[in-house]
Amino acid sequence: MAIVSLSGAHKAFGATQVLDGIDLETRDGEFLVLVGPSGCGKSTLLRAIAGLEDLDAGTVAIDGVRVNDAGPSDRGIAMVFQSYALYPHMTVAENMGFALKLARVPRAEIDAAVRAAAETLGITDLLARKPAALSGGQRQRVAIGRAIVRKPRVFLFDEPLSNLDAALRVRMRYEFASLHKALATTMIYVTHDQAEAMTLADRIVVLNGGRVEQIGAPMELYDHPATQFVAGFIGSPR
Ligand code: ADP
Ligand code: MG
Repeated sequence: MAIVSLSGAHKAFGATQVLDGIDLETRDGEFLVLVGPSGCGKSTLLRAIAGLEDLDAGTVAIDGVRVNDAGPSDRGIAMVFQSYALYPHMTVAENMGFALKLARVPRAEIDAAVRAAAETLGITDLLARKPAALSGGQRQRVAIGRAIVRKPRVFLFDEPLSNLDAALRVRMRYEFASLHKALATTMIYVTHDQAEAMTLADRIVVLNGGRVEQIGAPMELYDHPATQFVAGFIGSPR
């Protein structure tokens, strides 16, 4: 588990202030969901937490250690994107173990980690297949499996279900909930799906124009939206 904290995070691309002073702290083991309109800076925020985006001002820290002070492999962060490019020539097991192989983890340890992750995700029967022989939902499970084998302290998910059809999205929503329960790890999850946010979140962060509009438990935001914008986004009558 881990506590992720951002303090005074600023980032501009040209004239656009994409992160405009973000202060945010997760609770240990929390499932934090980021919502907000397209272009409001959700992906940029996740990338900054992963240490993939340099801030113009402010800091990101995991358990008090600034992400840019840690080497990329020591950060303990794994990110799953909406377009989860799997290596087409590798089997599911090879895809899942690839990061560990690059890190020169011994073969037996890789196999054990891959098997454990596959069991958590219910995909042990798919380990020998190539990505082309998988459905969309199965591919997304493999992408999540790739993250799990690294045993990160923090998972970052950037709209992981947005490429799936509506019925599958609803089913996968419950898998994220049980994954969070099983791993008890801090997870930060971006979505533009209001129902997904309400179901999964311990707390929801509503972003608007690079700022935090409101943060709170789903029913808190629903019952007491701080602004018209939050009310509109969460779907509460106001
Ligand atoms: P969201 O994920 O909420 O849709 P993003 O964080 O992807 O938003 O993008 C926020 C804004 O920053 C958008 O206007 C986008 O065009 C811009 N942006 C993101 N990344 C870059 C980049 N590497 N270079 C220039 N502009 C960018
Ligand atoms: Mg995005």
